[in-house]
Amino acid sequence: MKPVLDYPFAGIPGAGQTIEICPGVLWLRMKLPLALDHINLYLLQDDEGWWVVDTGMRGESTRNDWESVFASAAMGGKPVKAIVCTHCHPDHIGQAGWLSERWNAPLWMTWAEYFMGRVFCSPVSEGPLWEARDFYARAGASQEFLDRMGKGNKGFSAMAEPMPRSFHRLSHGDALTIGGNRWEAVVGRGHSPEHLCLLDRERGLLLSGDQVIPIITSNVSVMAIEPEANPLADWMDSHRQFLREVPDDVLVLPAHNTPFRGLHARLRYLLSHHGEHLRALEAACVEPRTAVELLPVIFKRSLGVEQFSLAMGELLAHLHYLIADKRLGRETGEDGLDRYLAVDRARAERLRDGVHDADEDTLMDFEAQAV
Ligand SMILES: [Zn+2]
Repeated sequence: MKPVLDYPFAGIPGAGQTIEICPGVLWLRMKLPLALDHINLYLLQDDEGWWVVDTGMRGESTRNDWESVFASAAMGGKPVKAIVCTHCHPDHIGQAGWLSERWNAPLWMTWAEYFMGRVFCSPVSEGPLWEARDFYARAGASQEFLDRMGKGNKGFSAMAEPMPRSFHRLSHGDALTIGGNRWEAVVGRGHSPEHLCLLDRERGLLLSGDQVIPIITSNVSVMAIEPEANPLADWMDSHRQFLREVPDDVLVLPAHNTPFRGLHARLRYLLSHHGEHLRALEAACVEPRTAVELLPVIFKRSLGVEQFSLAMGELLAHLHYLIADKRLGRETGEDGLDRYLAVDRARAERLRDGVHDADEDTLMDFEAQAV
């Protein structure tokens, strides 16, 4: 059952506008040209300027909305002093380069997110492609999908400005002092490699990025860049770590949907949500199944070729978790397809009778991305 969360803000900020969360913390929104149509950004007031937390996607309209915010009374004519990006996805880093240049403001990120962002922003059509092609072929991708791979793929560069060429590193446990308030770096993994959250224990605020979102579920994907990764194990571990390290009564300021209270209930729900998917997949593997055959187990809606890599990535994240947990085995057949089979088939049969559909679909936050 989905927990009932508390959403203390009735409205949402309009284009170029801000809503005050508490003194010195402003919430704003930028539009996204995706199925997920917005991102929440935050401004933190320092003595002589503002810190920006996440930046929006590349494009004129985002810049125009930023200019409206800069001119607003809420910022009091003060400059942007620094930029923090929670992680490397284009809706978060997309305007970091422009903002940094516009204000001579330094960029703060974790090490892995900064370099992953630099990689994603470079054209991925360069370099050998055989392993990526093999990765999707073994999963059962269509010929149409395989043919499109590598053709004019500009990575994230259409969605993100070139990133600043230097950055300032934040690691788990570091702290920033902004306007006399201490913001502690809390790192999560799974959605991205070293996702930064900022926790103000004193005032009970958590800037959570995509690590914790109240309504939609963050994508956790195995991608061709690391074909044997197990990001779901990282994701589940991070949820348990947040349950231990972050107080339940914080106001969560997420990158999507709206600010909420009920962190621990949300984390527990997500653990059970993925647990349900894992059981459903184990149950479906009573007989050997290819990844493509297993997609409908966790995605009930039909998927276009544009959504294939994200959906497949999410499915493989669950399959790799089950392999590492010794609940599934994997074999490559003579037809070149990987097939997954439950290690304990009697258990899988019992599970098959007990599974029910998940009541939440997965965030597909880059649906507009070319394959
Ligand atoms: Zn993200």
